[in-house]
Amino acid sequence: MGRSFTPGVTPPSSPSQLAWWFAFSKNRLLVYDESPAYRLPLLHDLSELNCQPLRIQFLGHLDQQPCYAAELSSEEKTPAGMAFVSLRELYSQLDDDLFAIAGRAVQIVEWDRTHQFCGHCATPMTQLPHERAKRCPNCGLVNYPRLSPAVIVLISRGEEILLARAARFPTGMYSILAGFVEPGESLEEAIVREVREEVGIEIQNIRYFGSQPWPYPNSLMIGFTADYANGEIVIEPEELVDADWFHKHALPQIPPKLSIARKLIDWFVAQPSQRPTSFE
Ligand SMILES: [Zn+2]
Repeated sequence: MGRSFTPGVTPPSSPSQLAWWFAFSKNRLLVYDESPAYRLPLLHDLSELNCQPLRIQFLGHLDQQPCYAAELSSEEKTPAGMAFVSLRELYSQLDDDLFAIAGRAVQIVEWDRTHQFCGHCATPMTQLPHERAKRCPNCGLVNYPRLSPAVIVLISRGEEILLARAARFPTGMYSILAGFVEPGESLEEAIVREVREEVGIEIQNIRYFGSQPWPYPNSLMIGFTADYANGEIVIEPEELVDADWFHKHALPQIPPKLSIARKLIDWFVAQPSQRPTSFE
């Protein structure tokens, strides 16, 4: 594959090329339904599908191909042979690069839809031409697409990891701990606080693992590993129904491949087994 995406905000001046269209209605993406596969529309314009977008945002180029995000009315009729599909269902159905752009597109469409008016003085906002931002022509307030950073941490104790179950999870599923970063916190402080609040233990050796955009609706998940330090598990009953240590070869049901939670767990499971404590 090896296509590369170049983000942009200024659409090409001659819009005669075929473009990738990421058109959403209620956060569901319009795709050709070629069951069991789905395919993203490559069109000159959405009018070819008889769709009337409410708003359009240029996203950038995938190689030479322009990419557009569009918001369709919730009343929009589904074009023949097509379907509105959630991004979670499209994971591994679209090429990875198109799936990543779809995650970007859904957040920009949502930001565009919810920032039509100034949050301070309610004047209609004006889109700035050269950056992804809107400015109020009356009071000057500027809005950028909102991102909500969240930390997620795999806590290990020897060959075991700490997994927890929130009441909202699908039946039987466990995952590692995660939570939103609060204003004024470093990422490390957010992790220590979340772990203390949710399971009452202390951790050490916090190390960065990787990050993942999580457009449900606008998070950036920042993944870490940490070692257990001390304390007994005491769950926060408002958040969790269970939490426990699980041996890496006896895990319960865990999140699907899509998530950084699963990448962290798979990474830990793949680590060579630790040797018994060595003597100097
Ligand atoms: Zn204003």
